[in-house]
Amino acid sequence: SSLFAAVEMAPRDPILGLNEQFNADPNPAKVNLGVGVYTDENGKLPLLKAVAAAEKLLLEAPKAKGYLPIDGIAAYDKAVQALVFGDDAVASGRIATVQALGGTGGLKIGADFLKRLNPGATVLISDPSWENHRALFTNAGFTVGTYPYFDAEAKGIAFDKMLAALNAAAAGTVVVLHACCHNPTGYDLTPAQWSEVIAAVKARGLVAFLDSAYQGFGDGIAEDGAVIRAFLEAGLNFFVSTSFSKSFSLYGERVGALSAVSGSKEEAGRVLSQLKIVIRTNYSNPPTFGATLVATVLTTPALRAQWEEELAGMRVRIKAMRGALVAKLQAAGVQQDLSFITRQKGMFSYSGLNAAQMQRLRGEFGIYGVDSGRICVAALNEKNLDAVVRGIAAVL
Ligand code: PLP
Repeated sequence: SSLFAAVEMAPRDPILGLNEQFNADPNPAKVNLGVGVYTDENGKLPLLKAVAAAEKLLLEAPKAKGYLPIDGIAAYDKAVQALVFGDDAVASGRIATVQALGGTGGLKIGADFLKRLNPGATVLISDPSWENHRALFTNAGFTVGTYPYFDAEAKGIAFDKMLAALNAAAAGTVVVLHACCHNPTGYDLTPAQWSEVIAAVKARGLVAFLDSAYQGFGDGIAEDGAVIRAFLEAGLNFFVSTSFSKSFSLYGERVGALSAVSGSKEEAGRVLSQLKIVIRTNYSNPPTFGATLVATVLTTPALRAQWEEELAGMRVRIKAMRGALVAKLQAAGVQQDLSFITRQKGMFSYSGLNAAQMQRLRGEFGIYGVDSGRICVAALNEKNLDAVVRGIAAVL
């Protein structure tokens, strides 16, 4: 019989499955609030001007396509490190940064390295978290548990319970934290709450793994990066995965990084050597194009300024859509307090709608969100907002 006779059909990815359902829906007024992708005021995936300009520069001076070093483009790694940790941190030499295949790739390199470093460690992710966190760390060989995060009743964070879980975790436990713009809930810790988390991580000897996929989508590039600087200032050794999928609208180019903050320059050198083994034995070395674009934008002052302006534009537009959604729902007669939608940060909102309501939204109105109630507010625009409001007001 076939080698594959006993292979079982794996379950479909829930969000990509939703996409297929959306594409097959003949409703002309359908709206896709399922996937985590930013679309502009015309409902289009943007090509940022800064990225297009960098692309033009590259195409004007075509280069042969040699292999990159295992850890990627040196100028890229350095620019990412400066963006994430600041110039002083780069000068200290104690951070190892490697180019990765998106934020997911950064998480996986870190997970594989951690598994060699501390094979018995447990990994804790937030409840709820980005779909792939559990699967990724499980596939890297870890037992994955959760720490409380979302408090449905309070429409916010179950902070006391979260902190208690961290304080009860064994030394060496890996704690995956969303640096900003929590996916899926949209609720972020306050700076004071972060200080308490940092104190717990320090006191308990936990290993923080900060997932930074939305820097610039919350309150600003520096503001959203402040958490990472706070971990740095606390003198901790920790990991950061960075994604530029959203902030550069470079989803398909797979541009990200992993950084490991170690104790000294000498230690960072040893860590880097191990990260390179993880990469070498997985895909040998990363691709050139996307990282060259990002490095060019980050290190060319005019393009950098343009990118920061375009990123601010995306951030401001999302905030405006949050405000408009709440205002229009209230104008449509919805009585509930919806101000939580404007307190949330980033591309997502836990709308508070239950699975039955989300299914009605899909079936009757062609409005596609996740059954958890997560909607992508970054996909709202002036053209689809009224239809979304009509649907939500009807199912509430
Ligand atoms: N981490 C979080 C929290 C995310 O939401 C995402 C993307 O949705 C990622 C990581 C992965 O990003 P990338 O597409 O760059 O792999």
